[in-house]
Amino acid sequence: MDALTIDTRIGVIGAGAMGAGIAQVAAQAGHPVYLYDNRPGAAAAAIDGIVRQLGTLVEKGKLDAAQRDATLARLQTVESLEGLARSGLIVEAIVENLAVKRELFQRLEDLCGEDCILASNTSSISITSLAAPLKRPERMLGMHFFNPAPLMALVEIVSGLASAPALAARLYETAKRWGKQPVHARSTPGFIVNRVARPFYAESLRLLQEGAADCATLDALMREAGGFRMGAFELTDLIGHDVNYAVTRSVFDAYYGDFRFQPSLIQKELVDAGRLGRKSGRGFYDYA
Ligand code: NAD
Repeated sequence: MDALTIDTRIGVIGAGAMGAGIAQVAAQAGHPVYLYDNRPGAAAAAIDGIVRQLGTLVEKGKLDAAQRDATLARLQTVESLEGLARSGLIVEAIVENLAVKRELFQRLEDLCGEDCILASNTSSISITSLAAPLKRPERMLGMHFFNPAPLMALVEIVSGLASAPALAARLYETAKRWGKQPVHARSTPGFIVNRVARPFYAESLRLLQEGAADCATLDALMREAGGFRMGAFELTDLIGHDVNYAVTRSVFDAYYGDFRFQPSLIQKELVDAGRLGRKSGRGFYDYA
């Protein structure tokens, strides 16, 4: 199965950390990209962020100015979901909530053409469950990028029970053409990476709760002795605690309350306090 052709319009919904990054990746690969967010100004702010990112790449000599300008010319914001109607692929990167995502995909199905592939960047929500209310559940798949999407190579192509294997193959080839390293995964809670990563976060949080050491010490140990690129606290500050807490809860519920995946009250406290990590200026660390 071939990759999507570069004239295929890509719709991206949610212009936060992930949606902005995915829009950048698709536009850099040559597609016309249409970005929508229901928070006024969010999509425009995301494009400003991409302008800055690409500017840095030009300064570092990793991109030439003409490529930057061509990428930016392919990116535009839309004011409503209707603006995505002619997309060949829509990648959703909104809040990690099953009911909200389900409602969005049901609306999209009524707006988009028969051939439009519907993909979710969800970290943990069942693709089978997202697809269930759709008239054509076979076109629903997971396309799970990692943060930051322009830099991280891995993309999980996630198939639910109803997903069409031919469309999974098409997304796999498309991700490859976008310079990524895709892997196929079945829709299990947290898929592959977020399942394997759960104990990394959970045990780090238990160590912190038990007073074994402070987060800076634990992060430094994981980096310097453990060989991880980031420790759990700096990494979850990057992910966003609202997102990471929602993913933890989703995996915990999906495994019928298995203790290994139990959320930590520390995560809940951070979310309740609005200390969401880098995006809010404060999480385990201060970014002000
Ligand atoms: P974010 O909070 O940075 O951005 C989400 C954006 O979606 C916000 O701008 C919000 O205004 C918008 N939004 C919310 N509901 C909407 C709706 N109904 N319609 C349109 N826009 C809506 O979140 P994020 O970190 O970009 O995560 C988005 C998705 O990607 C989640 O499903 C998350 O699990 C997944 N994900 C996150 C990471 C990460 O490290 N943050 C990594 C991989 C996948």
